[in-house]
Amino acid sequence: MNITSSMAWGQVRLAKDSFVGRCLVPAFHALWGFLIGLALPEMNETRHIIIICGHCGRPNRLPAERAAADARCGACHQPVFTGHPIEVDEAGFNRHSGGETATLTDIWAPWCAPCRGMAPAFERAAIRLEPRVRLLKLNSDTEPGLSGRLGITAIPTLLLMRAGTEIARHSGAMDTEGIVRWTEAKLLPSNHMKL
Ligand SMILES: [Zn+2]
Repeated sequence: MNITSSMAWGQVRLAKDSFVGRCLVPAFHALWGFLIGLALPEMNETRHIIIICGHCGRPNRLPAERAAADARCGACHQPVFTGHPIEVDEAGFNRHSGGETATLTDIWAPWCAPCRGMAPAFERAAIRLEPRVRLLKLNSDTEPGLSGRLGITAIPTLLLMRAGTEIARHSGAMDTEGIVRWTEAKLLPSNHMKL
């Protein structure tokens, strides 16, 4: 063993026994672990939300990104999203609009010409807005009680909700672009804190 290597060993021992070795190194490791812990949920964990199946109404836990658009229901094995609005009665409306996924409900009636005119635009909007938004159709003639409780005074009315809470509503027909733009604007974080 020459002097240089002896000094090197001595320096290592000194470092381990020093203030730096005893206090700062563990503190650095602790701080590093804390920072990694803070960063990992954002980096590695995919946010999941509960999405109600459009076919059977069962809840599914799915990633909150575009991948959910292709997901199949764990219960009925049908696609959770189909690119089409879902016709709902009061129970279906409550089930979907009470969930974590935003719902856009077209409240309409068969005798209403503007409602029938907007129907194809609303269909096309489903492809653009799913899986961020679930599109529903509620016939106000077959669910007059629910329409009354929702305070619907004109049709067609679009009702945007999440977790049982109304975000916005719009009365009067819109084209596809108008529906998509209006919905996206109302879902912006500045307009709705939960997104
Ligand atoms: Zn299902």
